[in-house]
Amino acid sequence: MQLPEKFIASLTGIKGFDKEAFEKVHLAQEQVTSIRLNPAKVSSMENGEWSMVNRQWSIASDEKPAPSDSSLFAIHQKVPWATHGYYLSERPSFTFDPLFHAGVYYVQEASSMFLEQVLKQTTDLSKPLRVLDLCAAPGGKSTLLQSIISTESLLVSNEVIKTRVNILTENITKWGSANVMVTNNDPKDFERLENYFDVIVVDAPCSGSGLFRREPEAIQEWSEDNVALCSQRQQRIVADVWASLKENGILIYSTCSYSKKEDEDINDWIVDTLNAESIKLNANSEWNITEAISDKHGCYGYRFFPDKTLGEGFFIAAFRKTEGSEFIFPKLKKNAFEKLSKKEETIAKEWLANNNDYSLLKKENSVYALPADHVNDIQFIQSSLYIKKAGILTGKLVHDELIPEHELAMSLIINDKIQAVDLSENNAINFLSKEEVNAGTSVKGWTLAKYNNHNLGWMKVLQNRVNNYYPSAWRILKRK
Ligand code: SAM
Repeated sequence: MQLPEKFIASLTGIKGFDKEAFEKVHLAQEQVTSIRLNPAKVSSMENGEWSMVNRQWSIASDEKPAPSDSSLFAIHQKVPWATHGYYLSERPSFTFDPLFHAGVYYVQEASSMFLEQVLKQTTDLSKPLRVLDLCAAPGGKSTLLQSIISTESLLVSNEVIKTRVNILTENITKWGSANVMVTNNDPKDFERLENYFDVIVVDAPCSGSGLFRREPEAIQEWSEDNVALCSQRQQRIVADVWASLKENGILIYSTCSYSKKEDEDINDWIVDTLNAESIKLNANSEWNITEAISDKHGCYGYRFFPDKTLGEGFFIAAFRKTEGSEFIFPKLKKNAFEKLSKKEETIAKEWLANNNDYSLLKKENSVYALPADHVNDIQFIQSSLYIKKAGILTGKLVHDELIPEHELAMSLIINDKIQAVDLSENNAINFLSKEEVNAGTSVKGWTLAKYNNHNLGWMKVLQNRVNNYYPSAWRILKRK
């Protein structure tokens, strides 16, 4: 793997850059695979998590997660800066693992999981927060954010590019939580939500050099001009979204580029233009993360080099907003949702657990379970942005019956008394491929397809056949 000379030259002089080690690690092209478990779907006890990681990916020994003082480069161990992150010894075929489709874990590059530390060190997570993930597709940071914020908090997961919103919605749906909304808006549209968010994450589109080891084909696209273009776009994105951050709110800025123009220089620009305050973070020295200080204002940034940390290239920085005013809910002219009749409510509630924590509302005949604490917020956001998903789409009311939606099957709010069948691995793959399934049950009606006790979706068991309701767009297309 030949790295462009101009690229190497542009990194020379950056703190922590070791040309020889950097080129060597790129030449070796080692694949580092890591996953982050969904604590809402897997026991959060360490032993439970560990056995989940061990369950099918051959682990050489029975060791528990390595203690923090062990070598970072040992395999089969926890990602040290992420509570639910694990390195795997090899890259399995995730497509053929039903638990991947059940939203039990997310395949995420380890360095970017450091976002957890940044959020924990800058924000009081015990409070209900409004969090925006502005550049969210395919959903790595959003699923991480959802796992760390409280259930009383609301995450708005936004993606501007229409074709990328579908994969974001799919991943958020599989993650199963009701407190995430997906929107499809330009950063500029967030000006309508002035002083609204407590935290904004801008995981900015960038020149992508941090992923060269994993995606060597991207090397050809690197140029100084593209870095300059990305830098201008990054400034524009941050400027556009800035008004929607409240006073004392936290901006977390990250890229997967090593370029100073997209990292330290943007940090200086943020302080210069927006009068923000840079925040110093603590990173355990054993993690080998490089603290990068910007030239003009001495802003703190944290850079991950793949020759020093087990993960890909990444840069992250945090800022506090020093100006702004109180957010006051505006009076909304009309509600986007309607109330259910008493009868409809009784029908819908049967499908839900803890059904008093949710407001059941409908749009046409579709029923949504919205976290009761967030109804006002959702209505307000609905009046300003284009919403792709809010709360849990529970089902459609047809002739006094609720036809359940896939979102309900994947959610954490489904009534656990609903009829279900645990499928064999082969049958689970058939189900996820939208093929014929042997449900092995004579009980008729709507039935949850499960694998290892995790929901995969809906089947309808009829007299002579089983109808498979897995969403066509999400089905497995590959053959084993
Ligand atoms: N945060 C995501 C994750 O962790 O899975 C990865 C985000 S990726 C680095 C940057 C995202 O920004 C892409 O989804 C891209 O479509 C989006 N994007 C591209 N141009 C943009 C723009 N002008 N404004 C906002 N977002 C943009």
